Amino acid sequence: MARYCIGVDLGGTYIKFGLLSEDMKPSGTFQLPTPKGGAGPVIAGMVKGARKLMADHKLTKADVVGVGVGAPGPMNIKEGIIIAMPNIPGIENCPMGRLVGRKLGIPAVLENDANAAGYGEYVAGAGKDRGDMVLLTLGTGIGGGIVVDGKVVHGAHDIGAEIGHLIVEPGGEPCGCGQRGCIEAYASASNLARYAISRFERAKLLPTALRQIHERKKKIGKELDMGDVNAARKAGDALAAEVWDRGAYYLALACVSISRLLDPNLIVLVGGMTKAGDDLIRPVTEHYRRLHWILTAPKTKIVLGKLGNDAGMVGAAGVAWAAFGGK
Ligand SMILES: [Zn+2]
Repeated sequence: MARYCIGVDLGGTYIKFGLLSEDMKPSGTFQLPTPKGGAGPVIAGMVKGARKLMADHKLTKADVVGVGVGAPGPMNIKEGIIIAMPNIPGIENCPMGRLVGRKLGIPAVLENDANAAGYGEYVAGAGKDRGDMVLLTLGTGIGGGIVVDGKVVHGAHDIGAEIGHLIVEPGGEPCGCGQRGCIEAYASASNLARYAISRFERAKLLPTALRQIHERKKKIGKELDMGDVNAARKAGDALAAEVWDRGAYYLALACVSISRLLDPNLIVLVGGMTKAGDDLIRPVTEHYRRLHWILTAPKTKIVLGKLGNDAGMVGAAGVAWAAFGGK
């Protein structure tokens, strides 16, 4: 009988569920809306989804080796405790791993969501069989996940791998984390779009296609995003090209620092901005090669993730295999 681990990825809007077989093949993915009302309803929602997954695939407790829960926010990994959760109110100092495990009667482990996404790409995506790997999630913020020697790197206080908060401009833009000059303040999709808008505002008369897109979207209550910036860049808009290149430059700076610190085989990019595919990888790689030291040739490859939004769920299940698989 095939054995599985269950992956659960807790987000502010949805909880995603899926199975991961012993040979690291994901299946059965689905999602449920994240219940409101704090820890109790959220845990009940996770248990309900995991039971549905087992029922849909005719699995008993004996078929499921463990459950991995990926969640945002600071946590105590060893104890399975979520300390706080910025996007989901009412979850503080919650031993989520233990509570989910106890209700299901299956051992459960907790993991930070970006670390889980990194581990997911490592076991079943772009990083499969590729050795040490670092993941960058490019969205509203910039998250990081590090896998060295097959293990997720948490740091001594479970706050390692926060790559979005590497300082790339001393004394620079303020960041939500309280530092200044973090990579996230320069290269996250939302901060780059905001930068483009600030450029229109500074030069009131700057005629650009990007500005026209921005004004058209504003009228219908929508915001300029990096998809618009890339489209305008491709249509020959100079400001859009500058904004896109600025993002690539700052991401490359982070990649060079990652290489100096860890020398991974791969840096995997995931998240909304990576929909641009090669349009993103090419300039990041070019800047990376240019900024890289001259003492050795640049060998780390910068690539796109393969699992899309499933990476966190797959990685959470992978973490459960590592914890309870007994190998
Ligand atoms: Zn920061």
